[in-house]
Amino acid sequence: MGDAGIQTRTIVGIEIHVQLATRTKMFCSCAVEFGATPNSRACPVCVGMPGVLPVMNRQAVDFAIAVGLALNCRIAPFTKWDRKSYYYPDLPKNYQISQYDLPLACDGYFETGSDAEVRRARIRRAHLEEDAGKNIHDTPGCTLVDLNRAGTPLLEIVTEPDIVSADHAYEFATELQRLVTYLGVSEGNMQKGQMRFEPNINVAIEHDGVEYRTPISEVKNLNSFRALRDAIDYESRRQVEEWRKDHSYVLGKAGNENRGWVDDRGVTEFQRGKEAAHDYRYFPEPDLVPVEIDEVWLNRIRSQMPELPLARRARFVEALGLSAKDAETIVGDRATADLFENAIGAGGPPAVLAKQFVNVWSKLANDRRVAIADLAVDADRMGRLAKLADDGTVSATAANQIAERMIDSPESPDALIDALGLVQVQDTGQTAAWVDDAFAANEKAVADALQNPKKAKAAAGFLRGQVMRISGGKADPKLVGKLITEKLERMNR
Ligand code: ZN
Ligand code: MN
Repeated sequence: MGDAGIQTRTIVGIEIHVQLATRTKMFCSCAVEFGATPNSRACPVCVGMPGVLPVMNRQAVDFAIAVGLALNCRIAPFTKWDRKSYYYPDLPKNYQISQYDLPLACDGYFETGSDAEVRRARIRRAHLEEDAGKNIHDTPGCTLVDLNRAGTPLLEIVTEPDIVSADHAYEFATELQRLVTYLGVSEGNMQKGQMRFEPNINVAIEHDGVEYRTPISEVKNLNSFRALRDAIDYESRRQVEEWRKDHSYVLGKAGNENRGWVDDRGVTEFQRGKEAAHDYRYFPEPDLVPVEIDEVWLNRIRSQMPELPLARRARFVEALGLSAKDAETIVGDRATADLFENAIGAGGPPAVLAKQFVNVWSKLANDRRVAIADLAVDADRMGRLAKLADDGTVSATAANQIAERMIDSPESPDALIDALGLVQVQDTGQTAAWVDDAFAANEKAVADALQNPKKAKAAAGFLRGQVMRISGGKADPKLVGKLITEKLERMNR
Protein backbone atom coordinates (compact mmCIF):
# COMPACT_ATOMS: atom_id res chain seq x y z
CA MET A 1 0.00 0.00 0.00
CA GLY A 2 1.13 3.57 -0.55
CA ASP A 3 -0.80 6.79 -0.16
CA ALA A 4 -0.23 10.37 0.97
CA GLY A 5 3.48 9.94 1.52
CA ILE A 6 3.38 6.67 3.43
CA GLN A 7 4.30 3.10 2.58
CA THR A 8 2.65 0.38 4.63
CA ARG A 9 3.42 -3.27 5.13
CA THR A 10 1.06 -5.65 6.92
CA ILE A 11 2.67 -8.09 9.36
CA VAL A 12 0.71 -11.16 10.45
CA GLY A 13 1.40 -14.22 12.56
CA ILE A 14 -1.37 -16.77 13.10
CA GLU A 15 -2.24 -19.18 15.87
CA ILE A 16 -4.31 -22.08 14.61
CA HIS A 17 -6.19 -24.64 16.66
CA VAL A 18 -6.85 -27.88 14.80
CA GLN A 19 -9.13 -30.52 16.29
CA LEU A 20 -7.61 -33.96 15.80
CA ALA A 21 -9.80 -36.74 14.44
CA THR A 22 -9.07 -39.28 17.15
CA ARG A 23 -11.81 -41.69 18.18
CA THR A 24 -11.50 -40.75 21.83
CA LYS A 25 -10.49 -37.68 23.81
CA MET A 26 -6.97 -36.51 24.70
CA PHE A 27 -6.83 -37.85 28.25
CA CYS A 28 -9.87 -40.14 28.70
CA SER A 29 -11.84 -42.71 26.74
CA CYS A 30 -14.90 -40.55 26.01
CA ALA A 31 -15.85 -40.48 22.31
CA VAL A 32 -15.03 -37.41 20.25
CA GLU A 33 -18.36 -36.79 18.60
CA PHE A 34 -19.96 -33.67 17.18
CA GLY A 35 -23.66 -33.12 17.71
CA ALA A 36 -24.27 -35.75 20.43
CA THR A 37 -26.78 -35.09 23.22
CA PRO A 38 -25.21 -32.42 25.48
CA ASN A 39 -23.05 -33.83 28.29
CA SER A 40 -23.52 -37.42 27.11
CA ARG A 41 -19.83 -37.72 26.09
CA ALA A 42 -18.30 -36.70 29.40
CA CYS A 43 -16.75 -38.63 32.28
CA PRO A 44 -15.14 -37.75 35.63
CA VAL A 45 -11.77 -37.14 33.88
CA CYS A 46 -12.89 -34.61 31.27
CA VAL A 47 -15.40 -33.04 33.66
CA GLY A 48 -12.56 -32.47 36.13
CA MET A 49 -13.69 -34.38 39.19
CA PRO A 50 -11.12 -34.41 42.00
CA GLY A 51 -8.89 -37.45 42.28
CA VAL A 52 -9.13 -38.69 38.69
CA LEU A 53 -6.08 -39.42 36.55
CA PRO A 54 -5.63 -38.50 32.87
CA VAL A 55 -4.14 -41.02 30.43
CA MET A 56 -2.49 -39.78 27.24
CA ASN A 57 -4.03 -40.70 23.87
CA ARG A 58 -1.12 -42.01 21.80
CA GLN A 59 -3.02 -41.60 18.53
CA ALA A 60 -3.22 -37.85 19.14
CA VAL A 61 0.56 -37.73 19.55
CA ASP A 62 0.99 -39.74 16.32
CA PHE A 63 -1.24 -37.26 14.47
CA ALA A 64 0.62 -34.28 15.94
CA ILE A 65 3.98 -35.73 14.91
CA ALA A 66 2.70 -36.23 11.34
CA VAL A 67 1.66 -32.58 11.12
CA GLY A 68 4.96 -31.48 12.66
CA LEU A 69 6.91 -33.47 10.07
CA ALA A 70 4.75 -32.16 7.21
CA LEU A 71 5.42 -28.64 8.47
CA ASN A 72 9.18 -29.32 8.36
CA CYS A 73 9.46 -28.99 12.12
CA ARG A 74 11.99 -30.45 14.52
CA ILE A 75 10.19 -33.03 16.66
CA ALA A 76 11.23 -32.81 20.29
CA PRO A 77 12.80 -36.03 21.59
CA PHE A 78 11.50 -35.08 25.03
CA THR A 79 8.26 -33.22 25.64
CA LYS A 80 6.01 -32.79 28.64
CA TRP A 81 2.62 -31.53 29.76
CA ASP A 82 1.78 -28.36 31.65
CA ARG A 83 -1.25 -26.95 33.36
CA LYS A 84 -2.48 -23.61 32.05
CA SER A 85 -4.75 -22.17 34.69
CA TYR A 86 -7.86 -20.23 33.98
CA TYR A 87 -11.37 -20.18 35.29
CA TYR A 88 -14.29 -20.57 32.93
CA PRO A 89 -17.63 -22.40 33.20
CA ASP A 90 -16.77 -24.58 30.19
CA LEU A 91 -13.48 -25.62 31.84
CA PRO A 92 -14.55 -27.10 35.16
CA LYS A 93 -11.04 -28.33 36.07
CA ASN A 94 -9.90 -24.69 36.18
CA TYR A 95 -6.91 -25.53 34.05
CA GLN A 96 -6.19 -26.78 30.57
CA ILE A 97 -3.55 -29.44 29.98
CA SER A 98 -1.24 -27.97 27.37
CA GLN A 99 2.46 -27.81 26.56
CA TYR A 100 4.37 -24.73 27.63
CA ASP A 101 8.15 -24.69 27.40
CA LEU A 102 8.77 -27.99 25.62
CA PRO A 103 6.35 -28.15 22.68
CA LEU A 104 6.16 -31.31 20.62
CA ALA A 105 7.32 -29.60 17.41
CA CYS A 106 9.16 -26.38 16.59
CA ASP A 107 11.18 -24.44 14.00
CA GLY A 108 9.43 -25.48 10.82
CA TYR A 109 7.99 -23.76 7.78
CA PHE A 110 5.04 -24.07 5.44
CA GLU A 111 5.21 -23.12 1.78
CA THR A 112 2.17 -22.19 -0.24
CA GLY A 113 1.49 -20.76 -3.69
CA SER A 114 2.75 -22.15 -6.96
CA ASP A 115 6.10 -22.46 -8.66
CA ALA A 116 5.65 -18.94 -10.03
CA GLU A 117 5.47 -17.53 -6.52
CA VAL A 118 6.20 -19.63 -3.46
CA ARG A 119 5.43 -17.97 -0.12
CA ARG A 120 7.06 -19.37 2.98
CA ALA A 121 5.87 -18.82 6.53
CA ARG A 122 8.01 -20.15 9.36
CA ILE A 123 6.33 -22.25 12.02
CA ARG A 124 7.44 -21.29 15.53
CA ARG A 125 5.91 -24.25 17.33
CA ALA A 126 3.11 -26.80 17.38
CA HIS A 127 1.89 -28.34 20.60
CA LEU A 128 -0.87 -30.59 21.87
CA GLU A 129 -3.56 -29.56 24.30
CA GLU A 130 -7.17 -30.25 25.16
CA ASP A 131 -10.22 -28.26 24.08
CA ALA A 132 -12.70 -26.70 26.49
CA GLY A 133 -16.44 -27.39 26.50
CA LYS A 134 -18.99 -24.99 25.07
CA ASN A 135 -21.08 -22.30 26.71
CA ILE A 136 -24.41 -22.06 24.95
CA HIS A 137 -26.18 -18.72 25.10
CA ASP A 138 -29.36 -19.50 23.18
CA THR A 139 -31.70 -19.69 26.20
CA PRO A 140 -32.80 -16.25 27.45
CA GLY A 141 -31.69 -15.46 30.98
CA CYS A 142 -29.23 -18.32 31.37
CA THR A 143 -26.12 -19.92 29.90
CA LEU A 144 -25.98 -23.67 29.36
CA VAL A 145 -22.76 -25.66 29.46
CA ASP A 146 -22.08 -28.66 27.21
CA LEU A 147 -18.92 -30.56 28.14
CA ASN A 148 -18.94 -33.00 25.21
CA ARG A 149 -16.10 -31.06 23.55
CA ALA A 150 -14.06 -30.74 26.76
CA GLY A 151 -10.89 -32.80 26.44
CA THR A 152 -10.95 -33.09 22.64
CA PRO A 153 -7.35 -33.20 21.33
CA LEU A 154 -6.22 -29.92 19.81
CA LEU A 155 -3.05 -29.16 17.94
CA GLU A 156 -2.08 -25.52 18.35
CA ILE A 157 0.17 -24.28 15.55
CA VAL A 158 1.90 -20.90 15.88
CA THR A 159 3.56 -19.18 12.93
CA GLU A 160 6.25 -16.53 12.98
CA PRO A 161 5.02 -13.09 11.80
CA ASP A 162 5.87 -14.00 8.20
CA ILE A 163 2.44 -13.67 6.64
CA VAL A 164 2.47 -10.61 4.44
CA SER A 165 -1.15 -9.98 3.51
CA ALA A 166 -4.76 -10.99 4.01
CA ASP A 167 -4.55 -13.04 0.80
CA HIS A 168 -1.42 -14.83 2.00
CA ALA A 169 -3.24 -15.68 5.25
CA TYR A 170 -6.19 -17.03 3.27
CA GLU A 171 -3.90 -19.14 1.12
CA PHE A 172 -1.96 -20.38 4.18
CA ALA A 173 -5.17 -21.35 5.99
CA THR A 174 -6.75 -23.17 3.05
CA GLU A 175 -3.52 -25.06 2.30
CA LEU A 176 -3.18 -25.99 5.97
CA GLN A 177 -6.73 -27.36 5.91
CA ARG A 178 -5.81 -29.36 2.79
CA LEU A 179 -2.68 -30.64 4.54
CA VAL A 180 -4.44 -31.90 7.67
CA THR A 181 -7.19 -33.58 5.66
CA TYR A 182 -4.56 -35.17 3.38
CA LEU A 183 -2.74 -36.48 6.42
CA GLY A 184 -6.07 -37.77 7.72
CA VAL A 185 -5.43 -36.21 11.13
CA SER A 186 -8.44 -33.87 11.09
CA GLU A 187 -11.62 -33.43 9.11
CA GLY A 188 -10.75 -29.72 9.06
CA ASN A 189 -14.45 -28.89 9.03
CA MET A 190 -14.84 -25.16 9.66
CA GLN A 191 -18.59 -25.33 10.30
CA LYS A 192 -17.96 -27.78 13.12
CA GLY A 193 -15.24 -25.52 14.54
CA GLN A 194 -12.51 -28.06 13.83
CA MET A 195 -10.14 -25.29 12.70
CA ARG A 196 -10.01 -21.92 14.43
CA PHE A 197 -7.70 -19.04 13.56
CA GLU A 198 -6.31 -16.19 15.66
CA PRO A 199 -4.23 -13.73 13.62
CA ASN A 200 -1.87 -11.25 15.29
CA ILE A 201 -1.78 -8.18 13.10
CA ASN A 202 0.18 -4.95 12.95
CA VAL A 203 1.48 -2.61 10.28
CA ALA A 204 4.89 -1.15 9.52
CA ILE A 205 4.39 2.41 8.25
CA GLU A 206 7.18 4.28 6.53
CA HIS A 207 6.81 8.05 6.66
CA ASP A 208 9.50 10.68 5.97
CA GLY A 209 12.22 8.05 6.22
CA VAL A 210 11.04 6.85 9.64
CA GLU A 211 9.41 3.46 10.25
CA TYR A 212 6.54 3.31 12.70
CA ARG A 213 4.96 0.07 13.91
CA THR A 214 1.38 -0.02 15.10
CA PRO A 215 0.47 -2.06 18.22
CA ILE A 216 -0.41 -5.71 17.69
CA SER A 217 -4.06 -6.75 17.62
CA GLU A 218 -5.00 -10.36 18.15
CA VAL A 219 -8.35 -11.21 16.58
CA LYS A 220 -9.88 -14.10 18.51
CA ASN A 221 -11.51 -17.28 17.31
CA LEU A 222 -12.17 -16.90 13.59
CA ASN A 223 -13.82 -19.95 12.11
CA SER A 224 -13.98 -19.21 8.41
CA PHE A 225 -11.32 -18.48 5.80
CA ARG A 226 -13.28 -15.44 4.66
CA ALA A 227 -13.49 -14.03 8.20
CA LEU A 228 -9.71 -14.53 8.56
CA ARG A 229 -9.01 -12.62 5.35
CA ASP A 230 -11.55 -9.86 6.01
CA ALA A 231 -10.46 -9.36 9.63
CA ILE A 232 -6.81 -8.89 8.56
CA ASP A 233 -7.84 -6.46 5.82
CA TYR A 234 -10.00 -4.50 8.21
CA GLU A 235 -7.41 -4.45 11.00
CA SER A 236 -4.56 -3.26 8.82
CA ARG A 237 -6.68 -0.38 7.49
CA ARG A 238 -7.99 0.50 10.95
CA GLN A 239 -4.52 0.59 12.46
CA VAL A 240 -3.18 2.92 9.76
CA GLU A 241 -6.18 5.24 10.22
CA GLU A 242 -5.61 5.23 13.98
CA TRP A 243 -1.93 6.07 13.48
CA ARG A 244 -2.75 8.92 11.08
CA LYS A 245 -4.51 10.91 13.83
CA ASP A 246 -1.30 12.01 15.59
CA HIS A 247 1.25 9.26 14.95
CA SER A 248 1.04 8.10 18.57
CA TYR A 249 -0.69 4.78 17.84
CA VAL A 250 2.57 2.87 17.90
CA LEU A 251 4.03 -0.16 19.66
CA GLY A 252 5.19 0.71 23.16
CA LYS A 253 3.09 3.89 23.42
CA ALA A 254 -0.30 2.35 22.77
CA GLY A 255 -1.16 -1.08 24.12
CA ASN A 256 -1.65 -4.31 22.24
CA GLU A 257 -5.26 -5.43 22.03
CA ASN A 258 -7.49 -8.46 21.86
CA ARG A 259 -10.27 -7.83 19.38
CA GLY A 260 -13.32 -9.76 18.23
CA TRP A 261 -14.62 -10.07 14.67
CA VAL A 262 -18.21 -8.94 14.14
CA ASP A 263 -19.14 -10.90 11.06
CA ASP A 264 -22.38 -9.19 10.06
CA ARG A 265 -20.82 -5.72 10.21
CA GLY A 266 -17.40 -6.73 8.88
CA VAL A 267 -15.47 -4.97 11.66
CA THR A 268 -13.28 -5.85 14.65
CA GLU A 269 -14.18 -4.63 18.12
CA PHE A 270 -12.00 -3.99 21.15
CA GLN A 271 -12.28 -6.74 23.78
CA ARG A 272 -9.48 -6.11 26.24
CA GLY A 273 -6.01 -4.68 26.50
CA LYS A 274 -3.21 -7.19 26.33
CA GLU A 275 -1.21 -5.58 29.13
CA ALA A 276 -3.82 -7.13 31.40
CA ALA A 277 -3.03 -10.53 29.88
CA HIS A 278 -3.86 -13.40 32.18
CA ASP A 279 -1.24 -14.89 34.38
CA TYR A 280 -1.80 -18.48 33.37
CA ARG A 281 0.45 -19.75 36.15
CA TYR A 282 1.82 -22.57 34.03
CA PHE A 283 3.35 -25.45 35.91
CA PRO A 284 4.20 -29.05 34.99
CA GLU A 285 1.28 -31.47 35.02
CA PRO A 286 2.05 -33.84 37.88
CA ASP A 287 -0.36 -36.57 36.74
CA LEU A 288 1.20 -37.29 33.34
CA VAL A 289 4.62 -38.67 32.49
CA PRO A 290 6.77 -36.83 29.93
CA VAL A 291 6.73 -38.11 26.35
CA GLU A 292 9.94 -39.39 24.78
CA ILE A 293 9.87 -39.68 21.02
CA ASP A 294 12.66 -41.78 19.52
CA GLU A 295 13.72 -42.48 15.92
CA VAL A 296 11.70 -45.71 15.81
CA TRP A 297 8.54 -43.80 16.63
CA LEU A 298 9.37 -41.05 14.12
CA ASN A 299 10.15 -43.54 11.36
CA ARG A 300 6.88 -45.34 11.93
CA ILE A 301 4.99 -42.06 11.40
CA ARG A 302 7.17 -41.10 8.41
CA SER A 303 6.48 -44.42 6.71
CA GLN A 304 2.73 -43.91 7.07
CA MET A 305 2.67 -40.39 5.63
CA PRO A 306 1.07 -39.91 2.19
CA GLU A 307 2.50 -37.75 -0.58
CA LEU A 308 1.63 -34.15 0.36
CA PRO A 309 -0.59 -31.94 -1.82
CA LEU A 310 2.13 -29.60 -3.11
CA ALA A 311 4.39 -32.49 -4.17
CA ARG A 312 1.49 -34.33 -5.73
CA ARG A 313 0.45 -31.27 -7.73
CA ALA A 314 3.99 -30.88 -9.05
CA ARG A 315 4.12 -34.55 -10.01
CA PHE A 316 0.80 -34.33 -11.86
CA VAL A 317 2.20 -31.43 -13.90
CA GLU A 318 5.63 -32.92 -14.58
CA ALA A 319 4.94 -36.64 -14.94
CA LEU A 320 1.36 -36.61 -16.24
CA GLY A 321 1.48 -33.41 -18.30
CA LEU A 322 -1.49 -31.74 -16.62
CA SER A 323 -1.87 -27.96 -16.62
CA ALA A 324 -1.11 -26.33 -13.26
CA LYS A 325 -4.74 -25.29 -12.93
CA ASP A 326 -6.15 -28.77 -13.64
CA ALA A 327 -3.62 -30.34 -11.26
CA GLU A 328 -4.66 -27.92 -8.52
CA THR A 329 -8.34 -28.74 -8.99
CA ILE A 330 -7.82 -32.50 -8.95
CA VAL A 331 -5.35 -32.51 -6.03
CA GLY A 332 -7.68 -30.20 -4.07
CA ASP A 333 -9.15 -33.15 -2.26
CA ARG A 334 -7.29 -36.34 -1.51
CA ALA A 335 -10.06 -38.79 -2.37
CA THR A 336 -10.51 -37.13 -5.77
CA ALA A 337 -6.78 -37.27 -6.51
CA ASP A 338 -6.65 -40.94 -5.45
CA LEU A 339 -9.58 -41.74 -7.72
CA PHE A 340 -7.91 -39.91 -10.60
CA GLU A 341 -4.73 -41.95 -10.21
CA ASN A 342 -6.66 -45.19 -9.92
CA ALA A 343 -8.55 -44.32 -13.12
CA ILE A 344 -5.21 -43.86 -14.88
CA GLY A 345 -4.21 -47.26 -13.50
CA ALA A 346 -7.40 -48.64 -15.06
CA GLY A 347 -6.28 -47.47 -18.50
CA GLY A 348 -7.54 -43.90 -18.65
CA PRO A 349 -5.26 -41.58 -20.63
CA PRO A 350 -4.25 -38.75 -18.21
CA ALA A 351 -4.99 -35.83 -20.56
CA VAL A 352 -8.54 -36.89 -21.43
CA LEU A 353 -9.20 -38.02 -17.88
CA ALA A 354 -8.05 -34.66 -16.49
CA LYS A 355 -10.43 -32.81 -18.81
CA GLN A 356 -13.27 -35.10 -17.79
CA PHE A 357 -12.48 -34.60 -14.10
CA VAL A 358 -12.33 -30.84 -14.38
CA ASN A 359 -15.21 -30.30 -16.83
CA VAL A 360 -17.61 -33.21 -16.39
CA TRP A 361 -17.17 -35.14 -13.14
CA SER A 362 -16.64 -32.01 -11.06
CA LYS A 363 -19.75 -30.40 -12.56
CA LEU A 364 -21.85 -33.49 -11.89
CA ALA A 365 -20.46 -33.61 -8.33
CA ASN A 366 -21.12 -29.90 -7.75
CA ASP A 367 -24.70 -30.26 -8.97
CA ARG A 368 -25.20 -32.93 -6.33
CA ARG A 369 -23.14 -31.08 -3.69
CA VAL A 370 -20.80 -34.02 -3.15
CA ALA A 371 -17.16 -34.77 -3.91
CA ILE A 372 -16.28 -36.58 -7.15
CA ALA A 373 -15.29 -39.61 -5.07
CA ASP A 374 -18.85 -39.79 -3.73
CA LEU A 375 -20.50 -40.06 -7.16
CA ALA A 376 -20.65 -43.86 -7.00
CA VAL A 377 -18.59 -44.18 -10.17
CA ASP A 378 -15.46 -46.22 -9.60
CA ALA A 379 -12.00 -45.74 -11.09
CA ASP A 380 -12.41 -48.61 -13.57
CA ARG A 381 -15.48 -47.10 -15.21
CA MET A 382 -13.97 -43.60 -15.24
CA GLY A 383 -10.77 -44.86 -16.80
CA ARG A 384 -12.70 -46.86 -19.41
CA LEU A 385 -14.84 -43.86 -20.41
CA ALA A 386 -11.74 -41.71 -20.88
CA LYS A 387 -10.19 -44.45 -23.00
CA LEU A 388 -13.30 -44.65 -25.24
CA ALA A 389 -13.31 -40.87 -25.71
CA ASP A 390 -9.59 -40.88 -26.43
CA ASP A 391 -9.70 -43.59 -29.11
CA GLY A 392 -12.69 -41.99 -30.86
CA THR A 393 -15.29 -44.66 -30.03
CA VAL A 394 -17.43 -41.83 -28.68
CA SER A 395 -17.24 -38.07 -29.13
CA ALA A 396 -16.45 -35.83 -26.18
CA THR A 397 -20.07 -34.67 -26.22
CA ALA A 398 -21.34 -38.23 -26.09
CA ALA A 399 -18.87 -39.06 -23.31
CA ASN A 400 -20.43 -36.30 -21.22
CA GLN A 401 -23.88 -37.81 -21.72
CA ILE A 402 -22.59 -41.24 -20.76
CA ALA A 403 -20.88 -39.85 -17.64
CA GLU A 404 -24.19 -38.45 -16.48
CA ARG A 405 -25.88 -41.83 -17.02
CA MET A 406 -23.09 -43.66 -15.17
CA ILE A 407 -24.00 -41.89 -11.94
CA ASP A 408 -27.40 -43.55 -11.83
CA SER A 409 -26.43 -46.83 -13.41
CA PRO A 410 -23.94 -49.54 -12.50
CA GLU A 411 -23.49 -50.39 -16.21
CA SER A 412 -20.12 -50.15 -17.93
CA PRO A 413 -19.58 -47.24 -20.32
CA ASP A 414 -19.50 -49.74 -23.20
CA ALA A 415 -22.96 -51.06 -22.31
CA LEU A 416 -24.32 -47.51 -21.98
CA ILE A 417 -22.86 -46.52 -25.35
CA ASP A 418 -24.66 -49.46 -26.94
CA ALA A 419 -27.90 -48.84 -25.07
CA LEU A 420 -27.94 -45.17 -26.00
CA GLY A 421 -26.71 -45.74 -29.55
CA LEU A 422 -23.87 -43.29 -29.02
CA VAL A 423 -21.09 -45.03 -30.94
CA GLN A 424 -19.39 -42.30 -32.88
CA VAL A 425 -20.40 -42.32 -36.54
CA GLN A 426 -17.38 -42.28 -38.86
CA ASP A 427 -19.48 -42.69 -42.01
CA THR A 428 -18.72 -39.73 -44.29
CA GLY A 429 -22.02 -39.94 -46.21
CA GLN A 430 -24.11 -39.88 -43.03
CA THR A 431 -22.03 -37.05 -41.56
CA ALA A 432 -22.28 -35.02 -44.80
CA ALA A 433 -26.07 -35.39 -44.68
CA TRP A 434 -26.09 -33.95 -41.13
CA VAL A 435 -23.91 -31.07 -42.33
CA ASP A 436 -26.36 -30.38 -45.18
CA ASP A 437 -29.25 -30.32 -42.71
CA ALA A 438 -27.40 -27.89 -40.43
CA PHE A 439 -26.60 -25.57 -43.39
CA ALA A 440 -30.21 -25.62 -44.59
CA ALA A 441 -31.54 -24.75 -41.14
CA ASN A 442 -29.05 -21.93 -40.42
CA GLU A 443 -28.81 -19.66 -43.45
CA LYS A 444 -27.66 -16.64 -41.45
CA ALA A 445 -24.70 -18.52 -39.97
CA VAL A 446 -23.78 -19.88 -43.40
CA ALA A 447 -23.87 -16.35 -44.84
CA ASP A 448 -21.64 -15.09 -42.01
CA ALA A 449 -19.24 -17.95 -42.50
CA LEU A 450 -18.94 -17.12 -46.20
CA GLN A 451 -19.03 -13.33 -46.28
CA ASN A 452 -18.35 -11.80 -42.87
CA PRO A 453 -14.64 -12.11 -42.02
CA LYS A 454 -15.25 -10.87 -38.49
CA LYS A 455 -17.84 -13.52 -37.76
CA ALA A 456 -16.64 -16.34 -40.01
CA LYS A 457 -14.85 -18.33 -37.33
CA ALA A 458 -17.65 -18.08 -34.78
CA ALA A 459 -20.23 -18.96 -37.43
CA ALA A 460 -18.31 -22.09 -38.45
CA GLY A 461 -18.07 -23.10 -34.79
CA PHE A 462 -21.79 -22.57 -34.39
CA LEU A 463 -22.50 -24.76 -37.42
CA ARG A 464 -20.30 -27.51 -36.00
CA GLY A 465 -22.28 -27.39 -32.75
CA GLN A 466 -25.51 -27.65 -34.75
CA VAL A 467 -24.26 -30.73 -36.59
CA MET A 468 -23.31 -32.37 -33.28
CA ARG A 469 -26.78 -31.56 -31.95
CA ILE A 470 -28.56 -32.93 -35.04
CA SER A 471 -26.45 -36.12 -34.82
CA GLY A 472 -27.40 -36.57 -31.19
CA GLY A 473 -23.73 -36.33 -30.20
CA LYS A 474 -22.78 -39.25 -32.46
CA ALA A 475 -20.87 -37.34 -35.14
CA ASP A 476 -17.09 -37.20 -34.97
CA PRO A 477 -16.27 -33.52 -34.35
CA LYS A 478 -13.05 -33.73 -36.37
CA LEU A 479 -14.82 -35.16 -39.40
CA VAL A 480 -17.61 -32.60 -39.01
CA GLY A 481 -15.10 -29.74 -38.95
CA LYS A 482 -13.41 -31.06 -42.06
CA LEU A 483 -16.70 -31.47 -44.00
CA ILE A 484 -17.91 -27.99 -43.00
CA THR A 485 -14.66 -26.41 -44.19
CA GLU A 486 -14.84 -28.29 -47.50
CA LYS A 487 -18.48 -27.37 -48.06
CA LEU A 488 -17.82 -23.69 -47.37
CA GLU A 489 -14.88 -23.75 -49.78
CA ARG A 490 -17.08 -25.27 -52.52
CA MET A 491 -19.76 -22.62 -51.94
CA ASN A 492 -17.19 -19.83 -52.12
CA ARG A 493 -15.99 -20.80 -55.56
ZN1 ZN B 1 -14.09 -38.15 29.44
MN1 MN C 1 -4.38 -22.98 22.70
